[in-house]
Amino acid sequence: MVYLDYNATTPVDVQVVEAMLPFLREIYGNPSAVYRLGRLARDAIEQARVQVAALVNAHPAQVIFTSGGTEANNLALKGWAKANPGKAIAVSAVEHASVLEAAHALATPVYSLPVDAEGRIRIRQVEELLEREAIGLISCMLANNETGVLQPVAELAKIAQAKGVCLHTDAVQAVGRIPVDFSALGVQMMSLSSHKLYGPKGVGALIVDCSLGLDPLLHGGGQERGLRAGTENVAGIVGFGKAAEMAAALLPERTRHLCALRERLEDGLLKLPGVVVFGQNAERLPNTVFIGVPGIDGETLVMALDKKRIEVASGSACASSKGQASHVLLAMGVEEALAKSAIRISLGKENTEEDIACFLSALEEIMRDFGKLEELYGDSSD
Ligand code: PLP
Repeated sequence: MVYLDYNATTPVDVQVVEAMLPFLREIYGNPSAVYRLGRLARDAIEQARVQVAALVNAHPAQVIFTSGGTEANNLALKGWAKANPGKAIAVSAVEHASVLEAAHALATPVYSLPVDAEGRIRIRQVEELLEREAIGLISCMLANNETGVLQPVAELAKIAQAKGVCLHTDAVQAVGRIPVDFSALGVQMMSLSSHKLYGPKGVGALIVDCSLGLDPLLHGGGQERGLRAGTENVAGIVGFGKAAEMAAALLPERTRHLCALRERLEDGLLKLPGVVVFGQNAERLPNTVFIGVPGIDGETLVMALDKKRIEVASGSACASSKGQASHVLLAMGVEEALAKSAIRISLGKENTEEDIACFLSALEEIMRDFGKLEELYGDSSD
């Protein structure tokens, strides 16, 4: 099997599993309990808080553990909106559904920030919007989950700061793949998810500037500075901490590996007639390649590759399950038919050069079976 869908999720690292195991069995205390078993669980959570904070150069007190990236995004938008009633919000057109849907669930005006053909927000248009409308919060992701395209968040932060606008960034896909610095970026909130960096599923964090007013989504026992009530997922948080520690230590090595594989992959892809790499000219994550294969439906392609035991995605799970074209590609101005032919290849630390070769030859074979090679090359010469 060749797994090429690391943006969907990653396998849990063996060392992460080992770090988690004691907290599933021996150290089962409730971290709010004052006796020894409780204190051991509390200490483990606080150690994980330090590890996660270190990965993004934040202060440990700024880390609020959540059940994942979706909850972190919901807490950022809904928590901010509840604490700042009546103020408008702007979100980029290419955000993950957990930002878009959370924004549209609010009883507050929501403005969409358009992107250019490479999938980047246009800073000039943001400036114009801030001149025109009383925006209180902007949410703009650091790296797109489908295209891997990086947004100019640091530049955006300067504009937002000058206008006193709060800035949230969804860094779920960026963290562990490129250096991310909460303090230097100048954002007030940042969402993270453990399962995108070889940690367990169902755990994430919102990094929050401590001076920011935020209302909780969940009320109860006052855990996580009162911002996320509920007995903590101790083993999950410990695993997230270990995964964060490893990501920080191994980032240069992992990035080198991914860059080399992606170069090989793109070289091969661009030799295939008609294949388009979306966001090709933009700065992107080192592991993500989103392509269009004209004339073959993305879902069909995913299934044909699956038959050859190669696992890739056709854009985001939400759109493809509804048979819709990716909202990210449509926002980039990609024609609907080409957008529907998209598949995403996202690489990870366990991929090898053989995986890339295997994928490329499988794709070529499928294109040939569909008659696309002959059609696109013109006269078939082999
Ligand atoms: N944000 C982005 C950019 C994502 O890619 C994802 C997951 O795919 C999420 C948020 C949601 O994270 P989680 O799966 O931890 O809820």
